[in-house]
Amino acid sequence: MAHGLLTIDCGAVVRNWRRLCEIHAGGAVAAVVKADAYGLGAAPIATALLSAGCRHFFVATVGEGRALGRALDAAGGGEGVMIAVLDGFRAGQFPRLTPVLNSLEDIRAHKGAAILHVDSGMSRLGLPPDELETLAREPELLARLDILFIMTHLAAAEDPSHPMNLAQLERFNEACRKLPRARRSIANSSGVFLGPRFASELARPGAALYGINPTPGRPNPMEPVLRLEGQVLQLRDIPPGQTVGYGGAWLATGPTRIATVGLGYADGIPRRIEGRLRGQFMGQSLPLVGRVSMDLTTFDVTAAPNVKPGRWIEMIGAAQDVDAMAEMTGTIGYEVLTSLGKRFRREYLPA
Ligand SMILES: *Cc1c(COP(=O)(O)O)cnc(C)c1O
Repeated sequence: MAHGLLTIDCGAVVRNWRRLCEIHAGGAVAAVVKADAYGLGAAPIATALLSAGCRHFFVATVGEGRALGRALDAAGGGEGVMIAVLDGFRAGQFPRLTPVLNSLEDIRAHKGAAILHVDSGMSRLGLPPDELETLAREPELLARLDILFIMTHLAAAEDPSHPMNLAQLERFNEACRKLPRARRSIANSSGVFLGPRFASELARPGAALYGINPTPGRPNPMEPVLRLEGQVLQLRDIPPGQTVGYGGAWLATGPTRIATVGLGYADGIPRRIEGRLRGQFMGQSLPLVGRVSMDLTTFDVTAAPNVKPGRWIEMIGAAQDVDAMAEMTGTIGYEVLTSLGKRFRREYLPA
């Protein structure tokens, strides 16, 4: 029996996608479902989005793309749907998948439908300026391609005042003038909120679909998608002066009731959250005390007499969302999601 329950609300994902469609007026909205939909489960999430009308999906690798193709086919809706592979596509292998071509070498090796990726400032993947010049001089290199989109990726869209946003847009527009006319794909989640200049024929949000705030520092326009609960395994009453957990790091200053919960850092509850996380139980907020162990965490439930073995304490949810967890441990919601473990029971609420 799993001691963790991860509830994923596919309806909330679909509502978030629809919300992004409204805001990204004029263009389509894809779903980025790489890394197993940021750890939440690409198959159920993409299937729900497919039913809602989403027709473009992005994954990171060919392996992810093939798995997604099978899942969408099994749901009876794979036809006419684009599954784009962001990284490391090898030409010709998988006709069902659409490669994102990141270099002249990729372009030379490929024939047929593809997305061209222009590097406008990430310096990571995509055609660098010198390769773009070569393409502008030798347009026949593109003759064998059916360019579905020309895309670029923003480096700092979560900060609307960052000068990189406009600089990248200008560089991208400049690059597009040198290339054959094609539809464009610019915004990630945060880019959708940068206003109409950053709109294009296809936005590529990931994080916002999963409830991560695409506008940090401002209220979250997205709906929360997941809830993580851990089961209470045992209760223990300890006297003042007794310590809890590894290192004896937490000391009871009065008579204390400790609840031990079956989730730990192997499940994605980071050790660094010691002293900061609060569990939620029937409207009560319970402090996590002592070190986070591999499989266990401990809560002070002295004030919550209804906590009993077998009951569930919420660790991520409406009261303390993914972004709050990230803030407490000095990371971003993306990393909290993709660090969630594999041994929970997962429940998908249908859309
Ligand atoms: C991951 C990724 C996205 C999605 O970014 P979010 O910030 O999660 O919306 C879009 N485009 C590219 C190229 C990516 O790698």
